[in-house]
Amino acid sequence: MHIVACVKQTPKSDNVKIDPQTGCLIRSGAASDINPFDEYALEEAVTLKEQLGGTVSVITMGPPQAEAVLKDSIARGADKAYQLGDMAFAGSDTWSTSYALSKGIEKIAAQQPVDLVICGKQTNDSDTGHIGPQISAWLGWPNAAFVKRVVKAGEKSVIVERLTEDGTDVLELPYPCVLSVVKEINKPRVKSPKGRILAKRAQVTKWTADDVSADKTKLGIKNCPTNVVKSFVPKREVCAVTVEGANGKEKAAKLVELLKENKYI
Ligand SMILES: Cc1cc2nc3c(=O)[nH]c(=O)nc-3n(C[C@H](O)[C@H](O)[C@H](O)COP(=O)(O)OP(=O)(O)OC[C@H]3O[C@@H](n4cnc5c(N)ncnc54)[C@H](O)[C@@H]3O)c2cc1C
Repeated sequence: MHIVACVKQTPKSDNVKIDPQTGCLIRSGAASDINPFDEYALEEAVTLKEQLGGTVSVITMGPPQAEAVLKDSIARGADKAYQLGDMAFAGSDTWSTSYALSKGIEKIAAQQPVDLVICGKQTNDSDTGHIGPQISAWLGWPNAAFVKRVVKAGEKSVIVERLTEDGTDVLELPYPCVLSVVKEINKPRVKSPKGRILAKRAQVTKWTADDVSADKTKLGIKNCPTNVVKSFVPKREVCAVTVEGANGKEKAAKLVELLKENKYI
């Protein structure tokens, strides 16, 4: 089985600031690490490889320093690493990012057929949760998002449980397919000493937009269909009201009045 895990380098802190002029996240100077959800994606890929045999490839699209998350992934059990790095990708929105990643995955698949792509549910910086489903759309492969358990990875298909608001869906997807996973799926391992040594020696394959035959009119801030019109940090307003009363019944009645007055009910 050949599994591709998508990993992104994101700021370590959730407290990411936005540049008010450009609407982009200010990433420079912020300490970075593997996106927390991608640890679960990678762990699932490595666990499946250990159960079934095969190869885990990791891919990232990002600036030169993003190579660190690929080496980190090797230390956690991945076998091969690919980085999409090119100024043509800079400023891409999720449509462009997922397109670039799908072209990278197509090229990886041309070298060794891919059965599964596993993404995290979302990132802790842009946080859209778009990329997994969008990669599946570009590739024309089936997708399951919010996957909380792989029930069975068979020869031709995988059965998964997907978290929904009111329960669980059980889905069977034929290979090749794309999963986005939630943190309930597993407990990521720590890097082993052997893994750290392998990571130091690992070669990361670096590809430009041309290397993956990407259409440059679909890439970068000038070509992506999303425009950040305005971005701002919402103002926090403290407006708590204490409802007084002799007992619970009286307080509840007053609360209902208050909610009606303010047209909440
Ligand atoms: C108009 C616009 C301009 C932008 N400009 C910039 C910019 O200048 N610089 C910049 O850094 N960002 C920019 N972004 C953000 C960038 O588009 C997103 O970070 C990127 O598309 C991924 O989306 P996400 O972080 O919401 O991923 P999600 O959809 O939340 O991520 C889900 C999963 O997809 C995978 N994944 C996501 N991103 C990657 C990746 N890069 N490589 C590998 N796997 C990945 C991971 O497995 C992740 O867990 C911009 C966004 C918009 C809308």
